Amino acid sequence: MPVNAFLTSLPMKYLTLLAAALSVAQAAPPNHTTLSECLVDAQVPSLGPCSTGWNQTIIPYNLRANYTPVLLAIPKTVNHVSAAVKCAKAYGAKVQARGGGHSYAAMGLGGTDGSFIIDMEKFKSISLYNNIATVGAGVRLGNLATYLYSSGKRALPHGLCPGVGIGGHALHGGFGMTSRMWGTTLDNIVEMQVVLADGSVAITSASQNSNLFWALRGAGSSYGIVTYFKFATKSAPTVATYFQYQYYSPSIDIKTKTILAMQEFGKAMAPKELALRIFFSNDTFQVYGVYWGPKTKWEKAIAPLLTHLPIAGRVSSVPGQEMEWLPTLVQLNNGGQLTQPLSYNMHDTFFAKSIVTPGMGHLGEATLKNFFTYLATDGQKAPVNWWVMYDLYGGAGSMISAPTLSDTAYAHRDSLFTIQIFSTPPGQAPPYPESGYSFVDGIVDSITKYQNETIFKAYTNYIDHTLTKEQAWDLYYGQEQMVKLNKVKDAVDPTRVFWNPQAIRA
Ligand SMILES: Cc1cc2nc3c(=O)[nH]c(=O)nc-3n(C[C@H](O)[C@H](O)[C@H](O)COP(=O)(O)OP(=O)(O)OC[C@H]3O[C@@H](n4cnc5c(N)ncnc54)[C@H](O)[C@@H]3O)c2cc1C
Repeated sequence: MPVNAFLTSLPMKYLTLLAAALSVAQAAPPNHTTLSECLVDAQVPSLGPCSTGWNQTIIPYNLRANYTPVLLAIPKTVNHVSAAVKCAKAYGAKVQARGGGHSYAAMGLGGTDGSFIIDMEKFKSISLYNNIATVGAGVRLGNLATYLYSSGKRALPHGLCPGVGIGGHALHGGFGMTSRMWGTTLDNIVEMQVVLADGSVAITSASQNSNLFWALRGAGSSYGIVTYFKFATKSAPTVATYFQYQYYSPSIDIKTKTILAMQEFGKAMAPKELALRIFFSNDTFQVYGVYWGPKTKWEKAIAPLLTHLPIAGRVSSVPGQEMEWLPTLVQLNNGGQLTQPLSYNMHDTFFAKSIVTPGMGHLGEATLKNFFTYLATDGQKAPVNWWVMYDLYGGAGSMISAPTLSDTAYAHRDSLFTIQIFSTPPGQAPPYPESGYSFVDGIVDSITKYQNETIFKAYTNYIDHTLTKEQAWDLYYGQEQMVKLNKVKDAVDPTRVFWNPQAIRA
């Protein structure tokens, strides 16, 4: 029954009593005067700058991006999350969730000083029923993969680094080596529970709060705090074929030919079961990947690429090695274990950018030569160590390209390759040198400014704090998605409770 109809159906004496109770409730002053007291009153566990463990708790994964929040709530229940958001709203605090804390720009710490952080680390439960996994927002990818496989050989597409949190990963994309076959992580979400800006709790799915469901899958951090995800899991492949071709000191010509061959192959010939990557560092590069099936099928699938891959400069190869599912994930994680401890404490120091190439905007030969010349000149004397990674996203049959822009807010459906440019200071410890930023910008410019007739984009999960919010909105979502993202934001969070420097309506 609607609330108004319910009220008019009550006898008068109950209405009088209700009105009196409401006026007492409204008149009663809050018994707290600060955000911190509000949290204490609501019994939400929290830490502040004077708490034991505060300094340790606010260390970001990326030590380059240090920010100090005002307070950090560590809720154990959805009611705690709701109470924490209500307190934040009452005191005008800007809120961000922290999932696995792996944001490149520490957006899980607000991406700036003075945010109120709701840390989802206690939301670690995973369960599986009828092949639907219910996953707490504090789960890390490695623990998710091992749980799913041990519970009926199930799996999901997601990234390779086992410490990354499902929260940020699934709400902003989630690319992994099975994504051409199964889509991104967010394409497999069927339901989420989310705490909204007014503290209310909503279920979102294709049939409930569908606009919010759309916006959360691509720009989630701007819309609420997701407490759990439901994913439609997949049957893990029984066999995978890993392959790798390594080159040492290759010429610019060899590198250019390799990328041109991969583009042609990727566009029309790579089956969706094939994951294909090329990884460049100073003196070497590797073409590698996985075919999610037996070696005999891989041989057929890879043959058109192999005939065009240069032989000169090749120093070693793994021409197809069959493996089971979990060992393949370990191999792709360079041998690192998948399961992660509850007291996770790993760090890196880095700055990265990304280039999303659109389907028709292949990199031309002259662009590639310009790019490799920059790497061979400026790259040799760079103030940082660096690598560049090309991942095949699109091409014939890719499930990343299957959904449309109206299916999810994630915007890069027609991308052929996504390129990540990653840099670390020597020793991988702070400080990150100022000159590193311009060097990395130079790598990006050697492609995007050189081939300026192509509209390149960028990937939200490789978030780049040096972009203005307007640049970020354009590169991560584009104009068409922004119109709807702004509308949904205005509807569910008009006072901009969920905020970071590049959030929707920041
Ligand atoms: C070593 C490493 C490897 C990576 N590999 C890959 C890869 O292979 N593929 C790929 O696609 N990406 C990869 N990434 C990028 C990664 O997907 C993103 O950094 C991701 O956003 C991290 O999520 P998180 O929860 O760990 O981070 P956090 O810093 O906790 O969160 C990131 C953003 O998501 C928001 N958020 C987190 N949880 C919630 C929630 N429950 N509700 C609402 N908002 C939330 C935060 O507020 C923040 O804005 C990698 C990152 C690293 C550091």
